[in-house]
Amino acid sequence: MKPLTELLGQESFSRADLARLIGLQDPAEREALYRAAYEVKARRVGRVDYYRGLIEFSNICVKNCLYCGIRKGSRGVRRFESTLEEILEQAKWVCGHRYGSVVLQSGERTDPKFIDFVDEAVRGIKRVTGGRLGITLCVGEQTEETYRRWFASGAHRYLLRIEESSPAFYATMHPDDGRHLWQVRHECLLALRRAGYQVGTGVMIGLPGQSEEMLADDLLYFRDMKIDMIGMGPYIVAHDTPMGQAVLKAGLDTDAHRARRFELGLNMIAAARLLMPEANIAATTALQGLNRHGRELGLRAGANVLMPIVTLPRFRPSYQLYDGKPCVEDTSAQCANCLTARVRWAGDEVGWDSWGDSNAFFERT
Ligand code: SAM
Ligand code: SF4
Repeated sequence: MKPLTELLGQESFSRADLARLIGLQDPAEREALYRAAYEVKARRVGRVDYYRGLIEFSNICVKNCLYCGIRKGSRGVRRFESTLEEILEQAKWVCGHRYGSVVLQSGERTDPKFIDFVDEAVRGIKRVTGGRLGITLCVGEQTEETYRRWFASGAHRYLLRIEESSPAFYATMHPDDGRHLWQVRHECLLALRRAGYQVGTGVMIGLPGQSEEMLADDLLYFRDMKIDMIGMGPYIVAHDTPMGQAVLKAGLDTDAHRARRFELGLNMIAAARLLMPEANIAATTALQGLNRHGRELGLRAGANVLMPIVTLPRFRPSYQLYDGKPCVEDTSAQCANCLTARVRWAGDEVGWDSWGDSNAFFERT
């Protein structure tokens, strides 16, 4: 086996190389991986981290992903929808606090009322902020026509995690009801690219049955799909879901399991940075769900995007994708101060007022 230092200095990586990096467990070796990834980040995208204010505007969802705390079948969840006025107020807050961008996220719906509502929200945000905010959407699988309509209204980035790049593995965690098809999700990513968006995708990390080779395949999928933005994070148990219950029953959610999922999350960020130096990579909230320093460690491992939650405090308890989601009791202002401290701790600066678009997008267009 070649020495780790040699592997870390490479410019291209095989599946076996990636699986080895993702599987590193020795603390000194992991530290070497994160240092190498941070150096690539500094050289290629800079030591500047960008904020996207995350507005979780509705938890109503027509789908039943087996892992998700707000799936349609979760009976204990109080369903909510923000009004247009609330969203516009939140967007003004985001703009006033000099975050360059906003993300509108929700459960998945495809009814005309929902499509019109998202369209109005995008146009409204452009209007009330004088076009200053970049707008990312994260509202699931839609038709190409809908993606094009929202793009024409002013959204320019879209997040849609493929969740798993293996169709067979994907099928094990999505009900076989004709709605949850891997091929449809994959086609949506292609449609988003045709429509002109900067396209983001990602996977959950540390799922039962997921090997390091499968995670390596996920990274190769991002590369082959010429993805501009990567948003991936550890899987965290939502106890009131079919997957959460199975994991708890099998004894697979001990402290040691959670710590390993966290390490895998950091290793994946670092390996993604080495493989795709120009991509925007998020340090997601789920990292902090498993380790209170999770997001700053994500930045040190090569991530350059943070998504502070600006969801209205009264809705936060109802948007629990998983148990122990952080920031549920904080206000948006507390989240802002706390994150800026995390960025400074990582040794970076905040890219205030900037859209912080993906270099990878400009390279491919
Ligand atoms: N409904 C849209 C969709 O699925 O694309 C957007 C919102 S959805 C809540 C955003 C992401 O949450 C999903 O892509 C999924 O990866 C993540 N998620 C859901 N349940 C999770 C869990 N238990 N642990 C970690 N991430 C989870
Ligand atoms: Fe709905 Fe998204 Fe949760 Fe799946 S992951 S159940 S689509 S909110």
